[in-house]
Amino acid sequence: MKSLYNENDALAFIKKYADHPRDLALRVYTSHLLGSNSSLVLHGGGNTSVKLKQKNILGEEDDVIFVKGSGQDLAVIEPEGFTGLNLNSLVKLRRLESITDADMENQLKIHRISAWSPDPSVEALLHAFIPHKYIDHTHADGILILTNQTNGETLISEALGPNVVVLPYIRSGFPLAKVAAEGFEKNPDIDAIVILSHGIFTFAEDARSAYENMIEYVSRAETFIEDRLRGKPVGRRRTGLSSPKTFSSELARCAQVIRGACARPNSGGRPCRYYVEARTAQDLVEASLTEEARLLCNSGVLTPDHAIRTKNRMAYIEHIPEKDEDLKQVVDHAIDAFKEAYQRYFHTCANKIEIDPNELNPFPFLFFVAGLGLIAIGGTRKEARIAADIGERTIRAKLRSITMGSYVPIPEPHVFDMEYWSLQQKKLDRSPPLSLQGQVALITGGGGAIGFGIADRLLAAGAVVVISDIDRNRLQKVYDILTDKYIQSQIEQVIFDVTDYQAVEDAFSEVSRKLGGIDILVPNAGVAHVAKIENLEPEKLDQVMAVNFKGTFTVIRASIPIFKRQGTGGNIVVISSKNVFDPGAAFGAYSASKAGAHQLAKIAALELAEIGVRVNMVNPDAVFGDENVCSKLWEEVGPERMKSRGLDAEGLKEYYCQRSLLKVQVFAEHVGNAVVFFASDLTPTTGAALPVDAGNPSTFSR
Ligand SMILES: [Zn+2]
Repeated sequence: MKSLYNENDALAFIKKYADHPRDLALRVYTSHLLGSNSSLVLHGGGNTSVKLKQKNILGEEDDVIFVKGSGQDLAVIEPEGFTGLNLNSLVKLRRLESITDADMENQLKIHRISAWSPDPSVEALLHAFIPHKYIDHTHADGILILTNQTNGETLISEALGPNVVVLPYIRSGFPLAKVAAEGFEKNPDIDAIVILSHGIFTFAEDARSAYENMIEYVSRAETFIEDRLRGKPVGRRRTGLSSPKTFSSELARCAQVIRGACARPNSGGRPCRYYVEARTAQDLVEASLTEEARLLCNSGVLTPDHAIRTKNRMAYIEHIPEKDEDLKQVVDHAIDAFKEAYQRYFHTCANKIEIDPNELNPFPFLFFVAGLGLIAIGGTRKEARIAADIGERTIRAKLRSITMGSYVPIPEPHVFDMEYWSLQQKKLDRSPPLSLQGQVALITGGGGAIGFGIADRLLAAGAVVVISDIDRNRLQKVYDILTDKYIQSQIEQVIFDVTDYQAVEDAFSEVSRKLGGIDILVPNAGVAHVAKIENLEPEKLDQVMAVNFKGTFTVIRASIPIFKRQGTGGNIVVISSKNVFDPGAAFGAYSASKAGAHQLAKIAALELAEIGVRVNMVNPDAVFGDENVCSKLWEEVGPERMKSRGLDAEGLKEYYCQRSLLKVQVFAEHVGNAVVFFASDLTPTTGAALPVDAGNPSTFSR
């Protein structure tokens, strides 16, 4: 590991943050250096601080400590992500024997120099009690591989040398701050403190030295580990076990089953479905096939800070049966065993403490699947990615640790303390989920006006949306507009031809590997052609039928095995047409193909009710799109219609508007709202058609 400190970059930070103290700008710079190294910190792990003098509103100079805000990501933190606190007030707290969580939280609130700054890191008092100007703290893998051994203390001293104090594990917050300060005072010339099963603190009077101390000591640990591992095979391959030959489709199948098995009814404001994040690097797959795989899953986190993101253990799926029913059983069994162990852990640890915490979701967040790798789940894609990132590094570190000698996890009560510590739980996003959060929606014809409108409304309702089309350019345009408006990770695009069943299956498999499955399917792809029957070329009819009718069939058919494996029901909303009820002359191919799709949707409603999948239809009329995303259908048929009615484009819109009962224009987002209504399960409805056409007596249901 090399120092990436560069004087020019440091100056650039000072210039960029000229409105802030120079020392804080440098603090931001080296925090970015630490945060961008994933073997040092991951997702809000680790913390940093700087002490400086700053004038208050009266012009008096105060001693101020800036500490990283709790949960802030060091890789991208800005000066505002640090909380300025009155240093002397915090230092005085050391006189206390102990302090309650509530009192500590209160102290960290009332001694801020700005009421608008975030809650500071739970390690804020440690940063205050150690006198050095710059303090850096990470949960570096290399350090944890050594501390989490039977003779961790000896190994770490041997690897890092005499200028490091090693302390036993003690809970973060006030107890750790006191012990660390005492350790420092007994050895004031040290460069670093290592807390067993937790991580390392380095310090210095300048930003560069504190950072470079971190790099130096973590490098020493890494080199020491490499020396010990040289020539030793990492993990023993289990006989008779290998990766499946059809890796991609098996991964998709497992993801669907796991995702379904973890879904549960809404409780405590949490979403009922989860997103999947799979990790399949070759070494992870190899690790999943070793004799040690089970131990890797059951042996606990590297540092208790990870428990809120990953739980203490992972579930292990030992083999992947061919039949879906058998696979479900294997997954359910693994989940049951995990839940049982989790509940035992919860009750044992909760009985030892005075407060009575509510048990958290007992399901696993990480599944290690023999031959496939790691599958993480999360209520948001971000949560799933964080769990996967930590899980991936944990597996690698533990395997090295076991190969070196042993992996000694921290006792469960310590993990429990951190997992259930209110200040840790506050790091998690607890905002109430949107109505479709946790769900995956796939829309065909996503490059068109209606597809865009549907995607927009489903995104606003919290779903992750996959837009698909055969036209790459049109799809990219819609993708760009949507990613400008919504979080990029909420949107995926996939290109395939709805008339090609194999292409549809492959695309659905890809979506499942990325997200875990599909909950809302919106067959929307459509083409139009204007011709009287006597002039309708048979090949043209085939083309229109292929997209509008067969294209509805292919996606519905390919979704059925996914719905079945998930076992959580779902919604299919077919974008039908006003023409199904009220056909137009010279529009036979379109109207008949849409009528076929509409009828097929009704059949699907009959057949899929038993697996909880509702199938409904939305029947729009005269949706033109806007200047950003125009309707391809109207581009094709509009000129003919305009010609036959002697109108221009605007005139045509007005014509359709005036033709309706309500005399209003129909927009793509109205169609999207209808889809969201059906997808939200607000009424027990299946096999129904909802006109979105501003009112037309010919389409009244009968
Ligand atoms: Zn820590």
